[in-house]
Amino acid sequence: MLEVDDIKAFYGSSQALFGMTLKVDTGEIVTLLGRNGMGKTTTVKAIVGQVGVKGGSIRFSGRKIAGLPAHRVARVGIGLVPEGRHIFPNLNVRENLIATARPGADGSSPWTFAAIMRLFPRLGERLENMGDQLSGGEQQMLAIGRALMINPRLLILDEATEGLAPLIREEIWNCLKLLKSMGQSILVIDKNLSHLLPLADRHYVVDKGQVVWEGSSEQLKCDESVRNQYLGV
Ligand code: ATP
Repeated sequence: MLEVDDIKAFYGSSQALFGMTLKVDTGEIVTLLGRNGMGKTTTVKAIVGQVGVKGGSIRFSGRKIAGLPAHRVARVGIGLVPEGRHIFPNLNVRENLIATARPGADGSSPWTFAAIMRLFPRLGERLENMGDQLSGGEQQMLAIGRALMINPRLLILDEATEGLAPLIREEIWNCLKLLKSMGQSILVIDKNLSHLLPLADRHYVVDKGQVVWEGSSEQLKCDESVRNQYLGV
């Protein structure tokens, strides 16, 4: 479904990606792991058209998407839950959800407003609240709901549990488990290995702008040296 092949990315003259390569197949949950500043968010930004790419290629369902503007990338079916959430502060919950909503690339719309209310009932109690009047956890649910409302074929979550209270974090992990059971393809960046290992099919460990290890949860569980060297756990 998603194939990122040997891409490089720069911030001015400073290089952040040095030949990043990864893929996500239909129905898979794949993680990007690694310490801070190693290029995970830059990889996501490159995929969704927020950072320019030099060399290599990015394909989604066989179609070249590198260089497409962000709104066109959403249209091909990639929904992003960005690091820091980026909720529209001056729109209320309802407006945040419907502002960018659209049917999926195949024309189907399983993720309706009502479906998001069932997924996160707490948002239903806050419908008229503005984005900047929500707690961090509510904002995170809203960011996930907003990304689902484009009925994405691939959902990308960048640090979706960071900075949240434990109970809310559990709710986000439960949501990801549910999405997995529904067959949703997901690329997830997070630090919480104990939740990621049972959830994900495959993992990429990123170091200094490139993948230095890839494998299954079982392989990562057994590979203490990779966990020590690159993840600090
Ligand atoms: P984190 O978990 O801290 O977000 P990350 O693995 O996602 O880490 P990136 O945010 O992709 O890492 O950062 C990769 C490199 O690019 C780092 O050296 C970072 O300092 C640099 N970088 C990221 N954003 C910018 C920017 N807007 N301008 C300049 N350099 C940047």
